[in-house]
Amino acid sequence: MKYPKLRELKEAIISLFSRPYTSPFPKNGHKPFPGYRGKPVVDEDNCVGCETCANVCPSGAITFQDDPERRIRIIRRDYGKCIFCGKCEEHCITGKGVKLSDEIFDLSCFDRNEVVETQERELLICENCGAIITTKEHMRFIHAKLGPKAYASILNLNILNERLQLARSEDVAATIQDDLKRKDMFSILCPNCMRKIQLKTLL
Ligand code: SF4
Ligand code: SF4
Repeated sequence: MKYPKLRELKEAIISLFSRPYTSPFPKNGHKPFPGYRGKPVVDEDNCVGCETCANVCPSGAITFQDDPERRIRIIRRDYGKCIFCGKCEEHCITGKGVKLSDEIFDLSCFDRNEVVETQERELLICENCGAIITTKEHMRFIHAKLGPKAYASILNLNILNERLQLARSEDVAATIQDDLKRKDMFSILCPNCMRKIQLKTLL
């Protein structure tokens, strides 16, 4: 015959009359220790929609979808899939687009859709072939980072022209044909279309 282990029996009796080790959540809020990795929080002013965090997220919690018709990129963050690894914060190109908070238990819910967030960013689209270049905020971030060196790229110059309204992209877009001409260099073009023009002018 097997006798109950006395040590476990003693523990069980003590536990019956002692207070629980866990905190009464949600009555008393969770008090995290310093450096605790909780829910990532997006800073709308510093997230440029570059998709880097989606590429490094190991659990697939961050995804993005481009909608060329509406000219927007939708970034979807599903915190039900997040493992709080901090890779998104670590690799964010602006260094401030997303930061892990100390909030985690407040994410508890019955409907997983409640812990999904989305952001929208305006797309930069090639005026000739319709290819998606990136988001406008991403290009502005690159400009700010490079300073005057950014204008070594004709695409960057054209974006600046568009912002200053020296050449309005809608007017130019109406004239662009598949048969790209040298003058089309002053439109917003993807690197492929820009290369085609450069090759033509060289030949
Ligand atoms: S700016 Fe940062 S948070 Fe925003 S999409 Fe890029 S990597 Fe992600
Ligand atoms: S903390 Fe990790 S799992 Fe969560 S969204 Fe960021 S990269 Fe993905």
